[in-house]
Amino acid sequence: MFDMIIIGAGTAGLTAAIYGLRAGLSVVVLEEFIYGGQIANTPDVENYPGIEKISGADFGITLYEQAKKYGALIKFEGVKNIKLTGQVKEVSTNKTTYQGKTVIIANGAKRRKLGCKGEEEFSGRGVSYCATCDGAFYKGKEVVIVGGGNTAVEDALFLANNCQKVHVVHRRDSFRASQVLVDSLKARENIIIHYDSVVEEISGTKSVERAIIKNLKDNTATELTISGVFVAVGLEPDNSIYQSEILLDKNGYIQAGENCKTNVEGVYAAGDTRTKTLRQLVTAAADGAVAAFEAGNYINQMQIQA
Ligand SMILES: Cc1cc2nc3c(=O)[nH]c(=O)nc-3n(C[C@H](O)[C@H](O)[C@H](O)COP(=O)(O)OP(=O)(O)OC[C@H]3O[C@@H](n4cnc5c(N)ncnc54)[C@H](O)[C@@H]3O)c2cc1C
Repeated sequence: MFDMIIIGAGTAGLTAAIYGLRAGLSVVVLEEFIYGGQIANTPDVENYPGIEKISGADFGITLYEQAKKYGALIKFEGVKNIKLTGQVKEVSTNKTTYQGKTVIIANGAKRRKLGCKGEEEFSGRGVSYCATCDGAFYKGKEVVIVGGGNTAVEDALFLANNCQKVHVVHRRDSFRASQVLVDSLKARENIIIHYDSVVEEISGTKSVERAIIKNLKDNTATELTISGVFVAVGLEPDNSIYQSEILLDKNGYIQAGENCKTNVEGVYAAGDTRTKTLRQLVTAAADGAVAAFEAGNYINQMQIQA
């Protein structure tokens, strides 16, 4: 049995591993994709205290190597099932079931989908959720980017450097992104902004060839001949496997305060997955440290009681 089972090898999970291991606890980290989490695909991180500038990939690798240095056991297995309410917690992956005294859920959040016709069908064949990962494939081509926040606007500017034309499709009449970004967006000649509009359908043969854009004010539809649709409409948690035992808020995030404690003793939520106002690397790292500290205290108390 492990002292600590950590679900997710993003910033929160790997930080929890570092703190847990340095406290002398036995730790297993379960990760369904690659270590590093969301940040792994970001070109530049410039707001992590103490590091002026680093690529997301390097940030993830450094964190991973730091956790490995302290002996972290990292298993690339996706968590499918949990039984967390008893004293011995069980976490099942596609391969096996792990038992632990404590569990730290650090599974982050995922990119939100559009839900329009053709999105699933062309996912990975012209529909992308990461402009910085896939933008280079669209050099000289015409693409759509959907969204109105900082990520969407940054992605549009990034794509405009390589693509012939970029259509920004935004459901409102003004952007949520910071003004400096919006000003840059409006100044670019190869960016066309479609306000009050949504993507209604994505179509093509082998890969994306067309998108139908619907104007929500006058209900008119416009067909665009494009090669790619980039989706940047925000994040959503995926906590469905926990909802039978762990309290979630109305948006599906795990209810846990600054001490990262959930409603179940010995179970903690760290990083983007929990209810919080700021989802960033620095808050994810802070949560990882706090959750591991609280888990260590819980184990000590259990030992005193036993
Ligand atoms: C494009 C982009 C740019 C960003 N830029 C910045 C920035 O410049 N500065 C900044 O501070 N923040 C930035 N952020 C936000 C930052 O990346 C997140 O706040 C941070 O990654 C949250 O860390 P986390 O560990 O909570 O979650 P995540 O990074 O999401 O990691 C969660 C991990 O859990 C894994 N996982 C999920 N479900 C399971 C499962 N069932 N089983 C096993 N593993 C699972 C996932 O694969 C993932 O690796 C950016 C985010 C994005 C998307």
